[in-house]
Amino acid sequence: MSRVFNFSAGPAILPEPVLRQVQEELLDWRGSGMSVMEMSHRDKDFMSIATEAEATLREILAVPAGYKVLFMQGGATGQFAFVPMNLLHNKVAADYVVTGAWGQKAAKECAKYGKAHIAAKPEKFTSIPAVASWKLDPDAAYLHYTPNETIEGVEFHFIPDVGKVPLVADFSSTFLSRPLDVSKFGLIYAGAQKNAGPAGVTMVIVREDLIGHPHPLLPSAFDYKAVAENESMLNTPPCFSWYVTGLVFKWIKSEGGLAEIGKRNEHKAKLLYDYIDSQPFYRNPIEKSSRSWMNVIFTLANAELDGDFLKGAAKAGLPGLKGHRSVGGMRASIYNAMPEAGVQALVNYMKEFVRTRG
Ligand code: PMP
Repeated sequence: MSRVFNFSAGPAILPEPVLRQVQEELLDWRGSGMSVMEMSHRDKDFMSIATEAEATLREILAVPAGYKVLFMQGGATGQFAFVPMNLLHNKVAADYVVTGAWGQKAAKECAKYGKAHIAAKPEKFTSIPAVASWKLDPDAAYLHYTPNETIEGVEFHFIPDVGKVPLVADFSSTFLSRPLDVSKFGLIYAGAQKNAGPAGVTMVIVREDLIGHPHPLLPSAFDYKAVAENESMLNTPPCFSWYVTGLVFKWIKSEGGLAEIGKRNEHKAKLLYDYIDSQPFYRNPIEKSSRSWMNVIFTLANAELDGDFLKGAAKAGLPGLKGHRSVGGMRASIYNAMPEAGVQALVNYMKEFVRTRG
């Protein structure tokens, strides 16, 4: 068996100890005589898996009292609709700060249920516009933003202060990448398949006072209040993904928690950006203060070499580097589970490619 350094944007690399534990427990979960895939979600074994996953997530993220933690289906794209359908309540509009393609999609989906007021949107998605320049709607139900835009590689390295309006954030591609003050948010959501586990489960952390006023057409399975009252088991949850995310949370804890994970992520990103900035062949167009720690995009000086670069990288055990089709070039996704050795191997490959083909 040989494992590669997988730079895919998501589904993405998972911590090897987690995969090994899954393998070990696959046929017989801790003496139960069955796989987690085969368990009833009402069984006490699965209930213990579910409860422990939530408790570990609350612990590593230091989720304050007064917040519900939900394990849902429908992906982050589902949340683009569930957020306005749950939170608009008696308001007409919500503010959207659009710093990339995913924020744009979130705003478009909201517009089906209310007014998605664009509070800020730069012409090019290469930086975070200054908060002072945002045009806020004083009557917005919430302000939505995307802390990390996975496609463009643009990240907020701060939590915007917008006064009283609840902050809602799509953390999908930077969830659990560093410590986070959850108390600053009304709601955060994240699909698991980047930093937290396999596809199929979406975490929602929501302030209790914001829920309970659903849009009349909101399906019950996506009503935060109803889901919370049923401990995310209003219907059959994505059991296996929930189980694996629980193991990833424990892995984070055993690695030293989010403070340690954050240090490593900052260091890995610096390694790659420093190399990109040190020479003329590769280029990253993002304003330095807004560069993502998770998704590092770069172009080659000669785009005709893109195909050869990707082929050679895959051969060298570095797959998944093709940039999103809408922006082209390359993208190295270096989530929590990517070891520094993987980033170093990429830098070495990039250097060698310039030496032989540049
Ligand atoms: N938001 C962000 C920031 C993402 O990166 C993605 C997936 N790449 C999505 C939303 C959509 O997620 P899903 O496919 O789970 O709906």
